[in-house]
Amino acid sequence: MVDVAERMTVLGTETAFEVLARAQALAAQGKSIINLGIGQPDFKTPPHIVEAAIKAMRDGHHGYTPANGIPALRESVAADIKRRQDIEVDPDLIMIMPGGKVTMYFAIMILGDKGREILYPNPGFPIYESVIKHSGATPVPIPLLEKNGFAFSAEDVLSRITPKTSLIILNSPANPTGGAVPKAEFDKLVKGLEKHPGVYVMSDEIYGQMLYDGREHVPMLSYPSMKDRTILLDGWSKTYAMTGWRLGFSVWPKALFRHAEKLAINNHSCVNAPTQFAGIAALTGPQDAVGMMMKAFDERRRVIVSELNQLPGFRCVEPGGAFYAFPNIEGTGLTAKELQSKMLEEAGVATIAGTSFGAHGEGFIRFSYANSTENIREAIKRIRTILPR
Ligand code: PLP
Repeated sequence: MVDVAERMTVLGTETAFEVLARAQALAAQGKSIINLGIGQPDFKTPPHIVEAAIKAMRDGHHGYTPANGIPALRESVAADIKRRQDIEVDPDLIMIMPGGKVTMYFAIMILGDKGREILYPNPGFPIYESVIKHSGATPVPIPLLEKNGFAFSAEDVLSRITPKTSLIILNSPANPTGGAVPKAEFDKLVKGLEKHPGVYVMSDEIYGQMLYDGREHVPMLSYPSMKDRTILLDGWSKTYAMTGWRLGFSVWPKALFRHAEKLAINNHSCVNAPTQFAGIAALTGPQDAVGMMMKAFDERRRVIVSELNQLPGFRCVEPGGAFYAFPNIEGTGLTAKELQSKMLEEAGVATIAGTSFGAHGEGFIRFSYANSTENIREAIKRIRTILPR
């Protein structure tokens, strides 16, 4: 056995990639697979964004950029936040990142340490818990409950804070549940946090533009008292169908910015230059593709929720945001992993067991509805045939 560092033994992974590999292996054997496992839009990046990257390459943008990103892109991010959320952000506190994920790694590595505690949503994006353990800190789950529409309860979060708490991770709208936390709950949390001035918040708002039925996004930076202790995680992956470009950004409190920048210089130097030009085009160009995608997701959301609720043993609350449905499957008599595997192997439908998102995901399955309505209907039809009666 290779003698690796202890911190490597506690690092987890993202099961979505394993399910994708198994689904691809089955497809290669000639099986028909419908993929409702993957967490990315099934749309292509809008053409004007692609063209901007090609132009940047032709114009000779082939070198390193500043570690925190080209100034024009950071200014575009600040202008976009101002336009959409009416929040002033200093472009010098913005870091352009190779994807949204890197912000979470940096935030947790900067604030996590042996003897510290980090609160994180469970079920939640699996990398939170994985990197918290990697940092040496103790992961403290914030259980997200079906009966609350998978929103956190401010009172519950506040009750878990101890003198050891260094960071609270929040994610709304959420992966894997589609839960969107109401503003009143954020208000209560922010009020309560006034008593804990040493605690930072990393607000993962990567699905911030993906909300339904008139719900409004609640940006953590909209609270003046949180400005100096919020790390905002956001990016282009979901909003502009750019998961493979690896482009994200973060906004850092002044006290932490230089640490994030140092990590970037140690780790990746900068994000590749043409991708950054594509990022400017995305923010400053026409936004109709975003609206078009959201309209399609909303239609699919209605279809999948209604269909899932008709499956024996399933019960699905309406997701308020993102592109995931997270039905309770306890009524099938199977565990989440058993059902995930049965659906893939016997029905050719890839989904992700709730337990891939933490222990509190038992009894649930994540369905991504970033797929056509036709495929969604076909997938549910196939699942119906393999469910225990
Ligand atoms: N945060 C959440 C909640 C996500 O679901 C994802 C991706 O699935 C990310 C962050 C990471 O996004 P990116 O692909 O830009 O790294």
